[in-house]
Amino acid sequence: MIIKPRIRGFICTTAHPRGCAAHVQQQIDYVKRSGVIDAGVKNALVIGCSGGYGLASRVVAGFGCGANTLGLSFEKSPSVKKTATAGWYNNAAFEEAAAAEGLYAKTLDGDAFSDEMKAAVVRTLTEEVGRIDLLIYSLASPVRRHPRTGVLHRSAIKPLGKAVRMKSLNVDKGQVHEIALEPGDADDIANTVAVMGGEDWQFWIEALRGADLLAPSFRTLAFTYLGSELTWPIYWQGTLGKAKEDLDCAATEITAQLVDLDGSARVASLKGVVTQASSAIPVVSLYMSLLFRVMKDQGLHEDCVQHIYRLYATQLARGAEPRLDASGRIRVDDVELSDPVQGEIKRRWPIVTSDNLSELGDLDGYKADFLKIFGFGLPGVDYDEDVDPCLGRI
Ligand code: NAD
Repeated sequence: MIIKPRIRGFICTTAHPRGCAAHVQQQIDYVKRSGVIDAGVKNALVIGCSGGYGLASRVVAGFGCGANTLGLSFEKSPSVKKTATAGWYNNAAFEEAAAAEGLYAKTLDGDAFSDEMKAAVVRTLTEEVGRIDLLIYSLASPVRRHPRTGVLHRSAIKPLGKAVRMKSLNVDKGQVHEIALEPGDADDIANTVAVMGGEDWQFWIEALRGADLLAPSFRTLAFTYLGSELTWPIYWQGTLGKAKEDLDCAATEITAQLVDLDGSARVASLKGVVTQASSAIPVVSLYMSLLFRVMKDQGLHEDCVQHIYRLYATQLARGAEPRLDASGRIRVDDVELSDPVQGEIKRRWPIVTSDNLSELGDLDGYKADFLKIFGFGLPGVDYDEDVDPCLGRI
């Protein structure tokens, strides 16, 4: 099969097996070049391991810390007629690269919110890995079937309080336009909190704790985005922000439950990067295209794996002094939110239009990052070659 990108709105319905493998390898190479991190991580579980920040966290755990990794994701396998999702190819590539270095790496695919997947992870850890020192909780999902009530919750990306009109970007057309967003109601908040809040993270800790799978000094991290005040109406002050506040509360509660293990749960606030999840959020694409231009011009830009490497190296490594805010979150979004970066983005925001976007923003960089998620545009990959979407497994 000759595989080309097929883009529908903010998703690409095809993925390139070789390109995804090259993308994973790029991340591994970066981590290896950057050096070993002594973070005391021998066994790590990464929930949401197949893309974006979860994949980068797994790459740094494995190739930076030398950890055995069990990953969990929700990806689709290929058929002879249809490619797999990018995450499925990423998982295959990661496992192969880890095995070549003698690192244990296994991935389970299924719904992380379900009791069945929790049982499967507990079983695998018990039989094959042992206690874990680190759990990275990096899920981004639009829906969650609640395991106790059976209710299917759908998250909403809406402002709260009043309708807002904001600038956004049609990435495909490269057009800056204004969008009107109606405010969410109490149901939208409750559903978004149910999907993206902290309850499932707590359920995971309970399941692992119950099976005695948490090592002394165990640590767990979940990720949040506080971001610039330019995006607050749609993110931090909207339904998503409520879910992220719930994650903050869960961190406090989990830490209280881990006292006897000398363990901790923290939320880490990360930089904006292009991922499948973030590309679905209106307004954020325009903000990120300005952010990338400004950070690149100032020599400060980080991609997913560079950012996560810095998280491990400066916040999790032995002897590191974590940069915590008043709510106890780890802050590695300091560069994105620094005055020189934000001052310049805020100067550009009111004046950016479709006509000057290529000068004020980095639409090309944004688009290239988007395609890379699906394995397209990687150097050294022949995109005219006939490839087996099943990697010889069917
Ligand atoms: P992503 O879309 O790249 O990855 C999401 C992962 O979750 C994938 O591995 C996917 O398979 C998995 N997943 C989704 N539903 C699942 C389910 N039901 N069961 C098992 N796995 C499932 O997302 P991302 O942008 O890396 O987001 C990860 C976390 O980082 C989120 O909490 C997000 O809010 C946070 N974050 C993202 C950004 C950003 O700019 N992308 C910035 C700060 C924080």
